[in-house]
Amino acid sequence: MVYTDTRKTLEILEALVAFDTTSYRSNLDLIDYISGYLAEFGISSHRIFNEEKSKANLLATIGSGDRGGILLSGHTDVVPVTGQDWVTDPFKLSIAEGRAYGRGTCDMKGFIACALAAVPDMCRANLAVPIHFAFSYDEEIGCAGVGSMINLMKSNGLNIEACIIGEPSSMKPVTAHTGKSVFKCQFYGTPMHSSLAPEGVNAIAFAGDVIHHLNSLEQAAKSFTITDERFKHPHPTLNIGKISGGKAVNIVAEYCEFDVEYRYPPGSEADYLLNQLPEIIRTAAHEPMNAKSPSASASCQQTVAYPAFKSDFNSPASLFARRLTGSNTDIAVNYGTEAGLFQQSGYSSVVCGPGSIEQAHQPNEFIDLSELSKCDAFMSALIAELSLVEVG
Ligand SMILES: [Zn+2]
Repeated sequence: MVYTDTRKTLEILEALVAFDTTSYRSNLDLIDYISGYLAEFGISSHRIFNEEKSKANLLATIGSGDRGGILLSGHTDVVPVTGQDWVTDPFKLSIAEGRAYGRGTCDMKGFIACALAAVPDMCRANLAVPIHFAFSYDEEIGCAGVGSMINLMKSNGLNIEACIIGEPSSMKPVTAHTGKSVFKCQFYGTPMHSSLAPEGVNAIAFAGDVIHHLNSLEQAAKSFTITDERFKHPHPTLNIGKISGGKAVNIVAEYCEFDVEYRYPPGSEADYLLNQLPEIIRTAAHEPMNAKSPSASASCQQTVAYPAFKSDFNSPASLFARRLTGSNTDIAVNYGTEAGLFQQSGYSSVVCGPGSIEQAHQPNEFIDLSELSKCDAFMSALIAELSLVEVG
């Protein structure tokens, strides 16, 4: 077995962390870095840009062959550090007590660093099947960037045996997670001095009526309960996590908005809120508001949507990850990943990456160095396995 030097992984991780790729910023400098690194080994990178050309996915292939390859998937963006209490500079890797600290170390530049550090060995290995890298943008704002890359993979007829989505799972194979959609609901009333309240249209009051309906919708969603003990809540759940509106207690509120999240386990009803919400908004808010004042209105729009993920225990991706990690788990998690999108497009997928999800998105985010070693060993085992195919 070939062992990758963890120092190389840390060196690359240090470079990756130094790029502030918070989702609202460009990731192009980081993509340039990766593509420059790959070019040193004669590997060409394909960039798939967003419309504004401010961000890009990167797709690259090592080796060739007609047989199905293995795809290593990671997202390059990170969540904001704003308002978080960091002891160290979040964009400077610092190592202490067997941990590497920095934004994205765990979620999920650590995995990308392990994959990149293994490139020299991958190139030397005379692979029987190719290894693909698929590094995306905008995962943290609802898996919004990876779609164009998956479309390209499909239109190019990319033959893939298994996708490994390297989100933090403590290197244990994860075969199911919930799906999610988020809607923004907006209410435009007519302001008025509160002494004339009956003559205005109070945006907050109508938002409240809609929320009341959503509360009963959540109860009704329990009828979509699935039988999968791995999920603590085996039915769709709703959460109104954010609301704002109004200016003062003596003014009829002109505006109100809230965000509502719908989360559901695989096999449950994905589109319940999508199907119900427009009608609720129309009857409980828009029509009565509009009847009082022609300028008053209410509407909703979907801002995030990614599918739930479920892979068979004996799917090619699950078998592959279990063989390589030696971990025979069949875990379901409550966080979302791009796995559902790959799987939905016909690519057998599994989530398996270094670090614990508990450290993701947190201030002083870190990854245990032992997790990076495990992932380096995973890459070595992967190379050995793919080289063996040719021998066998
Ligand atoms: Zn992530």
